[in-house]
This record gives sequence, C-alpha cells and structure tokens, in this order.
Amino acid sequence: MTKTDNNEQTRKVALVTGAARGIGLAVAKRFLGEGYRVALLDIEGELLAASVKALNDPDNTLALHTDVSDEKAVAKAFADTQARFGRLDALVNNAGIANFKPLLETTLDEWERIMAVNLTGPFLCTKAAAPLMREHGGGAIVNIASISALRASTLRVAYGTSKAGIIHFTKQSAVELALQGIRVNAVAPGPVETAMAKAVHTPAIRADYHDAIPLNRYGGEDELADAIFFLCSDRASYITGQMLAVDGGFDATGIGLP
Ligand code: NAD
Repeated sequence: MTKTDNNEQTRKVALVTGAARGIGLAVAKRFLGEGYRVALLDIEGELLAASVKALNDPDNTLALHTDVSDEKAVAKAFADTQARFGRLDALVNNAGIANFKPLLETTLDEWERIMAVNLTGPFLCTKAAAPLMREHGGGAIVNIASISALRASTLRVAYGTSKAGIIHFTKQSAVELALQGIRVNAVAPGPVETAMAKAVHTPAIRADYHDAIPLNRYGGEDELADAIFFLCSDRASYITGQMLAVDGGFDATGIGLP
C-alpha cells in the first residue's frame, strides 16, 4: 500500500481504541498519514466527535462511541467498521484507565473497573478483530501496556496488575493467532504527557520520573505513535509476541517506580 493508494479494496484499515485524545489520537493520526482508513473508538462520545471532526477527513475516518468492556457494544463497533471499510488490518488496544492507590485503599469496584477496561477490553476487541483480519490474510495487533507492568510500586496495585496481564495476554494471543497471519505485540510506555499523566502524576512523582529517566524527560505522544505504527507495519513482519518499552531508558536503569 502506498500513502496515495486510492483503491478502496487494497487500502488498509486500522481500529484504535481510546482514540479521542492522548496516545490513541496520535496513533490514529499516524495511521491516517500513512494512508490507512481509521476507525476511532472511545467511551467519551462528545470528545470523540470533536476529535474526529478536527481530523477533517470524513471519507477515511469512522467514530465509534463504545465502551471496550461491553461485549455487545464491541461486537457492534467491529461490525460497523467492517460495514463501512470492508476490512481490518490493524488493531491498537490503547483504551485504558489509571488509578494510583495502595492495595488496602483500593475498592473492589475500582479493581474490577480497571480490569474490565485494561484487560477485558483488549480481550473482547482481539476476539472481534481476529476473524475480520483473517478474511484478508492476517493483520497486526498492538496492546498498550505500561512500565507499571514491569515494576511493582506502592501505588499501582490494580493498574500495574492489569498492565502485567496485558503483556502475558499479548504472548498468548501471538502464539495462538500466528498461523492465522496475525502478529500481536505490546508497547510499554514510560510517562507520556497526556490527560492521564496529568491526572495521576503528582508533582513529586513527576520530579522523580525526570530524575530517574536517562533521557531526562517525559515521552511525547508522537514518539509512542511511531513505535506502535512500526509494530503494525510490514517492517515488523517477523516480530510477534514481544513487548517494547518506549520509556526513555527507564526500564534499563532498574530503578523503582516513583
Ligand atoms: P488518556 O486518558 O489521555 O486517553 C485514554 C482514552 O481512553 C480516553 O480518550 C478515554 O476516554 C478512553 N477510554 C477510557 N476508558 C474507555 C473505555 N472503557 N472504552 C473506550 N475508551 C475508553 O490516556 P493516555 O495517556 O493517552 O493513555 C493511553 C494508553 O497508554 C492507556 O492504556 C494507558 O494506560 C497507557 N499508558 C499511558 C502512560 C502515560 O503516562 N500517559 C504511561 C503508560 C501507559
């Protein structure tokens, strides 16, 4: 496929969850820039509508107001994508929520909601995506984990556990879907300047991150989009079941999470 491919039969299609803002929106823009048609899925309907409108590319975008943890809604979103674009080549399971709390202060409702969005969501979306990808010979899936999956801390019992789960889910689905031509990888971002980071990173956490990260700064949404797009592209055709930390070198230091 070239960036100027106008053939609707061969033009590739990506679905990005949590695409109304942040890393997901940057990924959606990246796919559009590479000539894909893009379905943007998010639970925040108004924000999603505004973001898709701002992309100003109605022929090649589709807004899906959907909760990734709702099985029926997810099935409808993928059916709508197939009806509109006729195929699916890439899925980015990016929608996620964070709640930085110690174990003893985390309620069952909070625990279950984080698991539902961060772990069950990618499970449901992967189940819905694989049959569509198979119809055209395969595809690529990238699950967004976190460096919180790699290090334990006193604040991330639910979030970190859900993200560690997504790394193993990535390996499980990579092994199971390989013979269907579907590659599955994970990206583990370090801290990235988004609404999520603004909500859960206190000034103390922020200062500690700056000190601990060898590149001495937060990551940018576009830097994450580059890595995610690479893993979805044919340039990564022999990579599956892997986790790529995009974290300014934080994981390499062995330093604990702030
Ligand atoms: P963000 O909060 O800015 O964006 C997340 C998007 O997901 C929002 O648009 C939100 O409405 C959507 N969303 C939330 N729940 C949903 C649901 N149930 N169904 C559909 N959409 C839903 O967050 P971000 O920083 O862009 O994070 C994107 C991903 O990267 C998340 O999985 C997050 O855990 C991960 N991550 C972020 C950071 C960081 O520092 N920002 C670090 C590591 C990992």
